[in-house]
Amino acid sequence: MKPLALALALIATSALPAFASSDTAKNAAFTLPALPYATDALTPAIDKQTMEIHHGKHHQAYINNLNAEVEKDSKLQGKTLGDIVTSVSKYGPAVRNNAGGHWNHSFFWNIMAPAAKTGTPSPELSKAIDDSFGSMDKFKEAFEKAGAGQFGSGWVWLIVNKNKKLEITATPNQDNPLMNDAKVKGTPIIGNDVWEHAYYLTYQNKRADYLKNWWSVVNWAKVSENYAEAVK
Ligand code: MN
Repeated sequence: MKPLALALALIATSALPAFASSDTAKNAAFTLPALPYATDALTPAIDKQTMEIHHGKHHQAYINNLNAEVEKDSKLQGKTLGDIVTSVSKYGPAVRNNAGGHWNHSFFWNIMAPAAKTGTPSPELSKAIDDSFGSMDKFKEAFEKAGAGQFGSGWVWLIVNKNKKLEITATPNQDNPLMNDAKVKGTPIIGNDVWEHAYYLTYQNKRADYLKNWWSVVNWAKVSENYAEAVK
């Protein structure tokens, strides 16, 4: 590989979380990543049964469905999850929904942690949040509002956009801001799942309460790493 091509390949890889570049359909099917904590570790913000069903059933189903699409379509074979997500408009809705579902959930588990182990935002991230939103409280308020305002199922994100600035955006279904046809594009550093399956057992219809309590399990150490990667 020529030096320029190698540099570009490294940049392309570093823009995505580590799991995205290593998880490939080349030789083996996509597989469910293990949770980085026990299923009851996020209580009371997220209950054990929700975690078991969400990770073990919902996430697994996206992976099974994606693998079925890879089996059927040779163009998908050898592609990484990141490759598929960033060129998703080339494929049909089943690939969009299930590759998006696999990427989004893999990301989601990693930006949460038990309340005692969440760490704190880095000074650089704190400053960027203050600069973009006025304060951490104002950022949280705006993020919760975007999550509550996403009609039906979807996700709410904090991204680093092409100007290296923080921006909040919401996406429907299993779409995300890395998708090549996303309305607002960028690198996610926080994402919250606002599908009812993410909160209904504890919160029923009260999505706003889920969004508020969710901050107690946001892994600020990991989010700060995501931020540092994204602004490189
Ligand atoms: Mn989900």
